[in-house]
Amino acid sequence: MFRNIIKLNRGLSRYYSTAGRRSSNGNKGFSFNSNSVKVGGAIALSALTITGLSTVLLEQEKKEEQVEVNATEEPKKSEKEYKKAMDTDYDIESFKYVIIGGGTAAYYAVDKILENDKEATILIISKERDVPYQRPPLTKNLWQTKDDNVVNTLSFSDWSGKQQNLLYEPESVYGSEILQFVKTRSVIDLHIDEKLVLLNDGKLIRYDKCLIATGGEPRNFKFTSTDKEKITTYRTVEDFKNLYNFIKDGNKHVTILGGGFLGSELTCSLGLNFGEKGIKLAQVFPENGVYANLFPEYLSNYATEEISKIGVDVKTKRLVKDITDNNGRLTVLLDDGSSFDTDHVVVAAGIIPNTDVVKSTTLEIDQVNGGYVVNPELQARTDLFVAGDVASYYDFSLGVRRRVEHHDHARATGELAGNNMSTKTTPNPYTYQPFFWSDLTPGVGFEAVGNTSAKLKTFSVWEKKEGENEEQKYNKGNIYYLNDKNQVVGVLCYGNYGKMDTARRLILKKRVIQDLNELQHAIDFDEHH
Ligand SMILES: Cc1cc2nc3c(=O)[nH]c(=O)nc-3n(C[C@H](O)[C@H](O)[C@H](O)COP(=O)(O)OP(=O)(O)OC[C@H]3O[C@@H](n4cnc5c(N)ncnc54)[C@H](O)[C@@H]3O)c2cc1C
Repeated sequence: MFRNIIKLNRGLSRYYSTAGRRSSNGNKGFSFNSNSVKVGGAIALSALTITGLSTVLLEQEKKEEQVEVNATEEPKKSEKEYKKAMDTDYDIESFKYVIIGGGTAAYYAVDKILENDKEATILIISKERDVPYQRPPLTKNLWQTKDDNVVNTLSFSDWSGKQQNLLYEPESVYGSEILQFVKTRSVIDLHIDEKLVLLNDGKLIRYDKCLIATGGEPRNFKFTSTDKEKITTYRTVEDFKNLYNFIKDGNKHVTILGGGFLGSELTCSLGLNFGEKGIKLAQVFPENGVYANLFPEYLSNYATEEISKIGVDVKTKRLVKDITDNNGRLTVLLDDGSSFDTDHVVVAAGIIPNTDVVKSTTLEIDQVNGGYVVNPELQARTDLFVAGDVASYYDFSLGVRRRVEHHDHARATGELAGNNMSTKTTPNPYTYQPFFWSDLTPGVGFEAVGNTSAKLKTFSVWEKKEGENEEQKYNKGNIYYLNDKNQVVGVLCYGNYGKMDTARRLILKKRVIQDLNELQHAIDFDEHH
């Protein structure tokens, strides 16, 4: 919850309400037609020009259904406008804080800014239609609800049985003078010296502080079939709604390409919750087993078997060569010469960090990991911050530069960037070690922290209870990942929850492990309360 939004809501004008399309009075706020009305009195640093922005947003409301957002398309008009804006005193909407991207990092940054700065004016610009929401339930909890209306309610039970909504906040929160949200728009350029962002509809916005929190775009491939409805990627709530509506009546064959987090979680959710409705599944990937980049080989093999047990046709060590149209269905051709028919293909092959925001200015891109390079305080330049999946940062405790694509990291970097943007004290460095988790089948779930690359040496400790048979050997375990100096750099707690703080401490100690048996009792198997 935005802890301070209610308190802060000064309730003067409403420029734009994201609830507009649902509620009849959503656009009531656009009542200021006078030219260049400013509300500078209420806002400390920047004079907020209403007219221009309200025009942008009204146009946007009208065009919303037709607009195909294309971040690479630069309108000619905007180029001129852009130059003009930089040459003259041209009146441009200003916000104290402009956030590019409307995902998890953006949400937590805004939360922190609202906490620190009682004079904040914040604009979030997002490619998506939806206000900030959490992505993990898109492959897990949302599929478990028995409510067909889930595509509208977006509500689900969390791990503790508590009812939650996918959206962090209701849409109505984003329509105040303090906090605005522009949907289905992308930032196509950023002029750092002038502190201007250019939107794909040609509009310019000025900022005092800016955060790039643009996440990543799902990787896709070129196939002979170009059927965009049948071959999709999966990242957004729209993707969830489309897939849900496609499979809810059952009796379809769905193919998932990818054996990582997204592909495996989605496969399991569909298999476990829609198998009975006649949803048949194939999962295809080139590795020997699922989570091959994370799990030691024996565990990857075990998890793959568990997925097969729920009725999924898991095709390991195979690459998809092509997908062709076949009388209303698709044919998937594999590199071993075999093929099969399917109704829908979901490509779950990782993401490419969204670094197309800055064209005219140079920001350093990490050539190894991708993403914008930031300093420890998450700054790419003065007053320009980067958080979440798109940030390449130096991890002090691991001694490496990395880019992390996980929820907890997006939350923590968003919060820190928001803090550093809005605090008057010295900015803090990012020293936190983020964790991540995954749930596949009831028997395959874990939390992990640090460097958990399967390329590292691992040492596994499994809980053995009296009377347990061989079948149950992978109930609860801790897997320690060691570097070439024999220091623990990562820990994966399999079925053993609530141990991340202990694991972090172990990594931070950087103790050289002389005898691996020292790790036998490093993390216990007690229930966490
Ligand atoms: C289905 C799914 C399940 C996941 N499950 C887990 C999990 O179980 N555990 C875990 O740790 N992590 C999980 N993750 C990863 C986690 O959700 C991401 O790491 C996190 O969302 C990253 O947050 P972010 O704010 O950096 O980026 P995002 O949440 O991707 O937000 C970026 C936003 O910026 C927008 N944008 C991009 N470019 C522009 C532009 N030029 N102009 C305007 N807007 C732009 C995008 O459209 C998007 O809305 C999952 C991810 C997915 C997709």
